[in-house]
Amino acid sequence: MNAAIEKGLSHADQTKVVEVGRGVLARVGEIVRDSMDVGEASVLVVADERTWAAAGEAVDASLRAAGLRVEDALIFPGTPALYAAYEHCETIRERLRETGSLGVAVGAGTLNDLVKLASGELEQPYTVVGTAASMDGYTGFGAPMTRDGVKVTMPCPAPQVVIFDLDVAAAAPPNMVGSGYGDLSAKIPGGADWLLSDAVGWEPLHPLAWELVQGGVAEALARPADLAAGDPDAYAGLVNGLILSGLSMQVYGGTRPASGAEHYFSHLWELDHLGQDWEPPLSHGFKVAIGTLAMSAFYERFFLRDVTAEAVEKAIVGWPAWETIEADIRSRLSGTLADHCAKETRAKYIEAPALRERLTQVLDSWGTLKPQLEKQLIPARELQAMLKAAGAPSVPEDIGITAATVKDTFLSAAYYRSRYSVLDLARELGWFDELVDEVFAPGGLWSELSPLD
Ligand SMILES: [Zn+2]
Repeated sequence: MNAAIEKGLSHADQTKVVEVGRGVLARVGEIVRDSMDVGEASVLVVADERTWAAAGEAVDASLRAAGLRVEDALIFPGTPALYAAYEHCETIRERLRETGSLGVAVGAGTLNDLVKLASGELEQPYTVVGTAASMDGYTGFGAPMTRDGVKVTMPCPAPQVVIFDLDVAAAAPPNMVGSGYGDLSAKIPGGADWLLSDAVGWEPLHPLAWELVQGGVAEALARPADLAAGDPDAYAGLVNGLILSGLSMQVYGGTRPASGAEHYFSHLWELDHLGQDWEPPLSHGFKVAIGTLAMSAFYERFFLRDVTAEAVEKAIVGWPAWETIEADIRSRLSGTLADHCAKETRAKYIEAPALRERLTQVLDSWGTLKPQLEKQLIPARELQAMLKAAGAPSVPEDIGITAATVKDTFLSAAYYRSRYSVLDLARELGWFDELVDEVFAPGGLWSELSPLD
C-alpha cells in the first residue's frame, strides 16, 4: 500500500482499508470478506447500468466466489445519469434494510454518496469500488444530496473499505478523469489559501492533514496527457491523490485541507444550476478547474505588488465599517445568498485596530511567506496547459460561461465563506477590485480567448 495512505488510515477513524492497483477487481470479494465487518449480514451491490458493465458484474461475481452471501444487485438506469437525490438514497436504504445486507457501491461520486448516506442512516459500514478518478469524495465523510429541491450536505461516515482498480479507472469516460484532475488541481491554490490563513492565525495548519493532501499532489498532476490517453499506470498517482485528499478531510474533520476560494466559484455556479441540464451534468471538478485557474491568476497579480508599511497604513485608513461592507454585499447579491454572504463575511470581519495587527503580522512575515506561497503555486498558464492536456476545462467557455461571468463571481467568492483566503487579504489591503481587473485585462489568462464585452 502507498505509504502516505497507510499513514492516513492509521489516523482516520472511519476508513479502515484502501486497496488501489491494477487488477484488484478480481480480489474485491476477498478484500470485503476480510476487511469489512460483514458478520452475519449479506452484501448488496449497488450500481447503475454503466458501472455494472464496467465493474459491477465482476464485483458481484468476486463477492460470490469469496463465499459471501450476495443479494440480487440493485442496478439503476444508466441514462439519464443518476442524480444524488434523496429518494434514490431511500430506495437503497430500504433494500439494505429489507435484506439485512451491507452495501457495496460500484461507481463514482453519485453512487458513492447515495450508498454512503443510506448506510449512514442505518449505522452500518459499506464498501465502495470506485470506477472513475473523478473527484476526491470517495474517502470523505458527508454526502451532498438534493432533498426537497435543495442541495445540502448530509452528515454520514466515510466508507469502511475503498477499492480502486486502475484498469477500470483508465477505461472510464474521458470527462471523468478531467473532472478528478480539476478537483485535485484545486489543492494548489487551495493550499496557498490555507498557508495564508495559517499565517494570519485564522485557521492553523494541521500538519498531518497538510502532509496527506499536499504530499501526493505533484505526482497526481504529473502525467495529464497519459491520463487522457487512458494509460492505467498513470492513474496510480491521481487515484492515490484523490484518496489522500479525502483521508485528509477525515483526519482534519472538515473540508479545509481540500478546498480554498477556488471551490467557492464552483459552489456559486452550482447554486445557479450551471450545466445541471447537461448530459452528463457538468461535474464538480470541471467547475473547480476554472475556479482554480482564476485563483492562480489572482495570486500572480497579487505577487506583483508588495506588502509594505505604506500599503498597510493606507489599508487601515481606507478600511470600511461593517455596515458599508454589508450594504455592498446586499447591493450586489440578493435573497438568501445575500443573507448567507453577509453572515459569513461578518464572521471574518475585524475592526481597524485588529486589522492593523493582522496586516502588520503579514508584513513582518512577508519575506518568508511570499516565497512559501510562490513555491506552493503553479503558474496559471502552466496549470492551464496541464488541465487542457488532461481533458479538463481550461477556458470558461469549456463550462458554458464567459470570462465576464468568472470576473463577476470573484466578489461573491470573497464574501461566500468565513474562511480566509487571498481574496480577503486583497480586500483588506484595498487591492481587490484592481487585482480582479488585472486578471481579466488584455494579455491575461483568458483575454485573447474570451474578450470581455
Ligand atoms: Zn472538490
